[in-house]
Amino acid sequence: MELSALKIENDNNGVLMSWHADNRALRLKFSGDAIKLPAAADAAFTSCLMPAMLLDETLSVDSSFTLSRDLIKNLTKFQQIFSGWFDDLQSVNLDITEQSLHDSLFKPDGNAVFYSGGVDASYSFFELQDDIDYLIFCLGLDIQLHEKERCDKALESARKFAEHYGKRLIVMETNFREAFPELSAQRCQVVLLISYSLALGLRCLFVPASHDVLELEPFITHPMTDPLLTNGVTEVVHHGMVSRVKKTIAIARSEQALAFLRVCNASDQFNCGKCEKCLRTMATLAAIGGSSPALPALTDFKQLREAKIWTPGKYHMWHDIYLCAKQNNALRLAEAVNKLCRRYEWKQLLKLLKVQSLKLLNDMIQR
Ligand SMILES: [Zn+2]
Repeated sequence: MELSALKIENDNNGVLMSWHADNRALRLKFSGDAIKLPAAADAAFTSCLMPAMLLDETLSVDSSFTLSRDLIKNLTKFQQIFSGWFDDLQSVNLDITEQSLHDSLFKPDGNAVFYSGGVDASYSFFELQDDIDYLIFCLGLDIQLHEKERCDKALESARKFAEHYGKRLIVMETNFREAFPELSAQRCQVVLLISYSLALGLRCLFVPASHDVLELEPFITHPMTDPLLTNGVTEVVHHGMVSRVKKTIAIARSEQALAFLRVCNASDQFNCGKCEKCLRTMATLAAIGGSSPALPALTDFKQLREAKIWTPGKYHMWHDIYLCAKQNNALRLAEAVNKLCRRYEWKQLLKLLKVQSLKLLNDMIQR
């Protein structure tokens, strides 16, 4: 995959970066006050790493790209870990000549955190509020650019939130999904968000953690790998490895965070109230006696039967809700959540029994 024709131009209250990945035309627009992109080439290059790894293609650049020497070293380490964790990702050759490399010399400026309206992002924002200059919001990945109404609604919420707390909002719009229709945007999402943000030349970029420290597993965002997505100028920090219950308790103190809470994109108006993620957030709010105008209240605990737990990480989160409900004397809720957890435990036990029985049977036949 050869990256070429990198251009930066002013575009309607923003700055537009464009480049080609072979014959795919990529565009990334930044909107906000006084946007500068001192590390645009590093951002464009890093954002094409996941596609190259998924498609197993060498990554090279033309003369419009000058890349940070540190970036190439860091991305090599990043690839070693990701290709070891995930079977669908290959470690690919970064074919960069000495003429395309430089030592990053510009002075970094400002600290930013991603803001989506979700529990993780809201928690990180409140924890870091005093150190944060910018909130970064992205359109084109989980919300597609052609979904005009949803884009406007999500953007309006992010603007109001940033304005309320006196922070500057930077909006990124990417056409990644149109350029790479065969790849899953969700599979690449956090890596893309970090990659794009490198363009801004920030001092520090905070990435809200998805898991608490006890749930860590190979995942698209991780404290070992997020910090490697850097050109050596921006420090990338994986932030907030605490339980989702603890995060929900913290953000439930803020009317703003509750009003703009966006935990899922499954329905036209966001927050479907039916998926596992919505039910998990609704159950947590019910366990602490809170509520959000953006989410239906959990009035009938039978609704929880619809929630399916399918990973140890999800089990861990639901078990935390069970403990929290029990502690707060929400005993009927605790019982309903416990049933859900027991269902998962039984399934795991049956799986283990099946594997062990087959092993035993195999051993007996071979003897
Ligand atoms: Zn939902």
